[in-house]
Amino acid sequence: MFINTSTHFNRSRVPKLTQFNPYDWIDRSLATIERANWSRSTQVITSLPGTEVTIDGRVLLNFGSNDYLGLAGDDRVIQAAIQATQAFGTGATGSRLMSGHKQIHQDLELAIAMLKGTEAALVFSSGYLANLGTIAALVGKNDLILSDRLNHSSLKNGALLSGAKTIEYQHCDMVDLRHQLQLNRGNYRRCLIITDTVFSMDGDICPLAEIQELSIEYSSMLLVDEAHATGIFGATGAGIVEAENLVGKPLIEVGTLSKAIGSLGGYVAGSASLIDFLRNRCASWIYTTGLSPGDTAAALRSIEIITTTPQLRQQLWQNVEYLKQRLSQQLPQLRLIPSASSIICIELPDARTAMSIGSKLKQAGIFAPAIRPPTVPTSRIRLSLMATHQQSQLAQLVNAIKLIFSAAEVS
Ligand SMILES: *Cc1c(COP(=O)(O)O)cnc(C)c1O
Repeated sequence: MFINTSTHFNRSRVPKLTQFNPYDWIDRSLATIERANWSRSTQVITSLPGTEVTIDGRVLLNFGSNDYLGLAGDDRVIQAAIQATQAFGTGATGSRLMSGHKQIHQDLELAIAMLKGTEAALVFSSGYLANLGTIAALVGKNDLILSDRLNHSSLKNGALLSGAKTIEYQHCDMVDLRHQLQLNRGNYRRCLIITDTVFSMDGDICPLAEIQELSIEYSSMLLVDEAHATGIFGATGAGIVEAENLVGKPLIEVGTLSKAIGSLGGYVAGSASLIDFLRNRCASWIYTTGLSPGDTAAALRSIEIITTTPQLRQQLWQNVEYLKQRLSQQLPQLRLIPSASSIICIELPDARTAMSIGSKLKQAGIFAPAIRPPTVPTSRIRLSLMATHQQSQLAQLVNAIKLIFSAAEVS
């Protein structure tokens, strides 16, 4: 037991500090989370990534993966990781500025810059760290951030970490964004607008061309998170920036190597001076170990496949069209959250219903996670499609949803 001998803490007005367990609040907090049906846990997947996964010894159809192009289990990518590990070891062994910088890091950064059509790029240990560090390096306490209300956690926490005044504008609402810029821009030194391009939990897409114009009109920097867009949107897979014809415009692109690219890590792409600045000022890049050789080589190989195989993207969009058509024809009562991406969400009234539908889908052989508050404001089943799904697998999904929803009478 903790015995307090300091006279400073022993004053009579202070509650008896030695008589309670300072960790008790954790169990109380957990109990509250359980009562709200917000409790989370992990499940073990014992198979290679792909359209089928093995969970608890059962093979399920997988609609819960960010591996949109099926590259995380692709033998070419696996072999690239094995070869790089054999040649360069399992770890980078140091930060990039010390001993952890390898030729393959440079090759990967060049490949990302080529894909994005930017002067330069920098790779991070994760997309989360890329956002945290980049936002905190670009703005500080005299500055303003305008952030979409539904932005990813990494953007929100990057804004907090930066110490800048942060104002959330209504989701994808350009009238509100302009209004906030008009009201506030003049009172701050620098301004940074931050937004997901594809919103990860809804699957809708920001009006990027308008946001970019507003950023110019109000002398503001613009940082876009292409995590769910890179590899799948745009003619060459560069993302929404490419799809909206904004390549070459002054903006900062952040993204991940762990979704369509099928590896692990994050990146920032932009001007050569931005990247040089981040190498000097971005704490989440400077004070952390370089990306492992295996992850780096896997990402590099995936990007090669992405740029040379537009058919993968075509297959993905065909699957998205097919599923949306089937769902709207056969289940017109279903409430789908408007989406223009490979993420399709079925909106549900509450967390309990979402959990129950999720487990019924699992019983029917379908893995499709229930997403609940506080991750999102409203509960839902989130389906993410892959280029490698077969139409028969999509038909099986639609049948399962039909059975479960008609029995449960949810809409
Ligand atoms: C997944 C995701 C990230 C985090 O990327 P990681 O590489 O997994 O850390 C950041 N932003 C958005 C929008 C994401 O969906």
